[in-house]
Parts: sequence; structure tokens; C-alpha cells
Amino acid sequence: MSKPDVTVRPLAELTTLRVGGPAEIWTMESDDQFPEATSAPYRVLGNGSNLLVSDTGVDERVLKLGRSYDDGRQFGGQADVWLGAATPLPGLVRRAKEAGLSGLEGTLGVPAVLGGAIAMNAGTRFGEIGDVLEEVELFTGGEVVRLPASDLQLAYRTSHLPEGAVILRARLRLQPSTPERVAAAMAQVDAARRGQPKAATAGCAFKNPPEDSAGRLIDQAGLKGLRVGDAMISHEHGNFVVNMGHATERDVRELLDRVRTTVGVPLEMEWRAWGNATQ
Ligand SMILES: Cc1cc2nc3c(=O)[nH]c(=O)nc-3n(C[C@H](O)[C@H](O)[C@H](O)COP(=O)(O)OP(=O)(O)OC[C@H]3O[C@@H](n4cnc5c(N)ncnc54)[C@H](O)[C@@H]3O)c2cc1C
Repeated sequence: MSKPDVTVRPLAELTTLRVGGPAEIWTMESDDQFPEATSAPYRVLGNGSNLLVSDTGVDERVLKLGRSYDDGRQFGGQADVWLGAATPLPGLVRRAKEAGLSGLEGTLGVPAVLGGAIAMNAGTRFGEIGDVLEEVELFTGGEVVRLPASDLQLAYRTSHLPEGAVILRARLRLQPSTPERVAAAMAQVDAARRGQPKAATAGCAFKNPPEDSAGRLIDQAGLKGLRVGDAMISHEHGNFVVNMGHATERDVRELLDRVRTTVGVPLEMEWRAWGNATQ
């Protein structure tokens, strides 16, 4: 049995918001490494683009799927395909377009890997990953099992994975179309995304309340540009928090609290929070 590579690193280096203290990172390269890696409490890291991590880090092991779970290069435009969960979504979206395959357009611009996209059912109002997901292969309860996508009950930015399950691979089914038609659909999504900040961020901080938009509410409350330490509400998009340099989790939490208090409408965090909130 091969051994995973284990290192201690700050999660700020592995998350797009660039916030978070140290953790033991286990880089997983084969299914047979999972029984040992999961023998103590653990979490699963994708591309770290939807996480707010405590300044004190996390006590659990952090499992990250390594290169052997990235099938981006092998994906040559098959409509019905199994792919490793560390495959970056942006490359898949681009290759699907080149191959004239439709179904992933709504996820254009989501900086996830496939496993993280499924766990969050990532997408936009134009479509989400659940639209093309057929099956998943999971490490759960000490073994590798296959489940139909319907068992995950994907909904708005959420899924119901079995407790502690690690997505290893997923089967996607795309629809034959033409590169031109797929490009046209992507142009619409791209237009809707224009104006989103390019700085270090973790995407939308809050879920949209029913029939409304968190970004609009924050904008209307005049909170764009509000800053706590180096954490700031983006000038471009009210629902994006940007790290202006050395933001801490504490800064970010205080900023979110101020937003909630000022907006006055219950706002549920879209990010997943890891570790003990810094007081
Ligand atoms: C600039 C920017 C734009 C964004 N735009 C969008 C958008 O338009 N739509 C949208 O939905 N999101 C958006 N996001 C948020 C984010 O990209 C998504 O939530 C994405 O699905 C997170 O994927 P990830 O691989 O980074 O997962 P992570 O952030 O690493 O993890 C997220 C959750 O998934 C779990 N997870 C990750 N991998 C696995 C696995 N293999 N098995 C089991 N669980 C796993 C983690 O434990 C965690 O709970 C944006 C983020 C940024 C930074």
C-alpha cells in the first residue's frame, strides 16, 4: 500500500480567500490510502474556493486529492465520461466547448475542482453541476461505493453526501451540440459575471434569500467598500468579500457581522467555515 504525502501548511496558501492557519495536509494519490487517512478526524479540501478557515487552523487532517485524481488532460470530449474529483472545472468547461458538448456552460467562471463543485452543487442561474451529474464514486464507511446522483439530493449550493464521504470520481453526461452554440451560451454567462472582482476572494459570501439577491441587498444598504482590517466588501459586487492583503478570519467575520446587522434581512453564509471562529 502506498503512503500519502503529509505536510503541515497554512490553509491560507490553499484557499482563494488566502485566510486560514495551519493544518496537516494529506495529499491522496490512490484509493487504498483512504482507510489509513480516515482513521482519525479529517476534512476534505477541493480547490479551497468556498472556505473561510480559522486563523488558528484546523485540528483535523485535511485530505486533498492529488494529481492522480485529475483527469483534465484525458478529457477529450466524451459525452458520457468518468472523471477524477481533482479535475479542475474551468478546463473541463473549456474542453467541452471545444468538443461541442453542452451542459457545463452555467458553471463558467467557478474556480472549483469537480469534487468541490459537486459538494456545493456549484453553478449560476444558467445551470449547475447537478444538471450533468449521473453518478459518483465515494470513499465512505471504509469502502469505495457508487451512488446515483439522485442520492446526493443536490439543491441550491448544497448536497447531502453521506457523513464523511469523499468524492473520488464522478460520471458526467453532456449533450451533443456545436462549439458555436456552446460558446454563445457561455457568452451570456460571462456577460452576467462581468464586474466580479479579480482580487483574492471566495466568491459569494451569502446565499441569495428567496426571491432576492444578497448582492443587491448589500449594495442597497450602501456597504460596498466597507472594510475591517484588510477584509473589504468589493466595490464591484456587494456579495464578494475581498482580501486586500493580510486579512484575517477575524476581520472577515467582523465584516460579515456588520453586513448582517446593517442589511437587517437574515443572510445565510454560502461559504463553509472550518475551525474554531477566532474571538
Ligand atoms: C471568484 C469566485 C467565483 C465564484 N463563483 C461561483 C459561482 O458562480 N457559483 C458557485 O456556485 N460558486 C462560486 N464560487 C464558490 C466556489 O467556487 C464553489 O462553491 C465551488 O464549488 C467550491 O469548490 P472547491 O473545489 O473550491 O471546494 P472547496 O472550497 O475546497 O470545498 C467546498 C466544500 O466541498 C467539500 N469538498 C471538496 N472536495 C470534496 C470531495 N472530493 N469530496 C467531498 N467533499 C468535498 C469541502 O469539504 C467543503 O465542504 C466562486 C468562488 C470564487 C473564488
